[in-house]
Amino acid sequence: MVEAVGKQLFIGGKWRDAEGGKTFEVEDPATGQSIASVADAGVADGTAALDAAVATQEEWARTAPRDRGEILRRAFELITERADDLALLMTLEMGKPLKESKAEIAYASEFFRWFSEESVRIAGRYSVAPNGASRLVTMKQPVGPCLMITPWNFPLAMGTRKIGPAVAAGCTMVVKPASLTPLSMLALVDIMVEAGLPEGVLNVVTTTSTGEVMEPLIRDPRLRKLTFTGSTEVGRTLVEQSAQGLLRVSMELGGNAPFLVFADADLDKAVDGAMLAKMRNIGEACTAANRFIVHESVAEEFASRLAERMGALTLGRGTEEGVEVGPLVEAKQRDKVRELVEDAVDEGATVTTGGGPREGEGYFFEPTVLTDVPRSARLFTEEIFGPVAPIFTFGKDEEGLAMANDTEFGLVGYLFTQDLNRAVWAYEGLETGMVGVNQGIVSNPAAPFGGVKASGFGREGGLEGIEEYLETKYVGLAL
Ligand code: NAP
Repeated sequence: MVEAVGKQLFIGGKWRDAEGGKTFEVEDPATGQSIASVADAGVADGTAALDAAVATQEEWARTAPRDRGEILRRAFELITERADDLALLMTLEMGKPLKESKAEIAYASEFFRWFSEESVRIAGRYSVAPNGASRLVTMKQPVGPCLMITPWNFPLAMGTRKIGPAVAAGCTMVVKPASLTPLSMLALVDIMVEAGLPEGVLNVVTTTSTGEVMEPLIRDPRLRKLTFTGSTEVGRTLVEQSAQGLLRVSMELGGNAPFLVFADADLDKAVDGAMLAKMRNIGEACTAANRFIVHESVAEEFASRLAERMGALTLGRGTEEGVEVGPLVEAKQRDKVRELVEDAVDEGATVTTGGGPREGEGYFFEPTVLTDVPRSARLFTEEIFGPVAPIFTFGKDEEGLAMANDTEFGLVGYLFTQDLNRAVWAYEGLETGMVGVNQGIVSNPAAPFGGVKASGFGREGGLEGIEEYLETKYVGLAL
């Protein structure tokens, strides 16, 4: 599968080498070995990709909405047909177990199905001005050429949830996947071509000179929109860079999700939800439960059940049968998780299961549960991005909710209770863009995904997703 994927840049409908023939290596995180050499774009390559997107924009915007929808629908079907191959490729470059890669492929393809249906529902309004003297007509038009920068943790889905609505809306684009995991996006290129996407609509640039290649594009007045998924730190820099050109910007940034377990929670459901919210993607998800905030009356029981489940998980290479937890994506990520656990233990936390990296090749980290964690521990405020579940306790409900909101982030919160009044009170009070009530996963192509506070702005998926790629034009029509 790795051999079959294009390793060059895809610009204006053609595969081509990076300037000077430069390449970089993509590693398998389970072994640390290189699995492919990919084109390493320079500044001129980035500009060429934007040139192609700009040159194609006008014609692409004029295509029939149904035609754009049909392209997405065909791409959805092709991804579904090739799910096994795509999953293997994803596991090799990113590490997650095959079963999880398959789940991401399905999730990724659903954005195409969803937006294939939305492409024909782009509509405006018509009304009579209050004084009756004119007619007010509104219409939606594509924003224009977009730059899409995506992270390594969901190598395909973070791309399709941008590409899907952009294609549906009639925008052209330059996509820059993460340099740790470019292969899934490169594999998507062939699928889009086969699905009938015209040349120049989708341009893909891989690079390790990321800031140097991206900044001139962001500052280029021909670019009309920047959409970014990644860390809050990089997001802040990109918002600054985009200010000069007053770009339309969407930012899907970091999280620090609270997972609230109230005294009356169904603990079976809470533990199932915790396993999903913590262990999906080996904990390397922006939506991962980062802080378990559990009522003191059930904390011990919850911790021991969670530790039992976490401790029983099988670690190993994601391609192997029965493996439930793959390696972290790189040594830096593994070392950061280790640092956060050591800091918590120094602050007084107890390791109930796991506690450190696994010896040997690859960047494996044992599923870990920490109890008696004080709020002074760094993992109360920092995104862990690994299989570590710290448990904090609270007494009064108000105290639990205040702890949940005591963070600069606001992507998602989870809460478990059987009391409807308590659930409504808590989800209305959570300062997040999304809430899971008695469930440990919120991602759904039909729902608006996104955060508040330092988790960013803009929404992906749902009815809202396509709006990010549309401008509203108003026409005043005098009679
Ligand atoms: P990252 O370091 O911010 O990288 C994300 C993307 O930005 C990569 O393609 C990266 O390229 C690129 N990038 C890095 N520096 C850049 C610069 N100066 N200018 C332009 N682009 C730049 O984040 P990550 O480690 O890949 O991803 C993990 C983060 O993403 C976590 O914080 C997670 O919470 C967040 N995330 C958020 C969501 C959400 O929807 N809210 C979803 C998934 C992940 P290189 O790979 O070449 O460095």
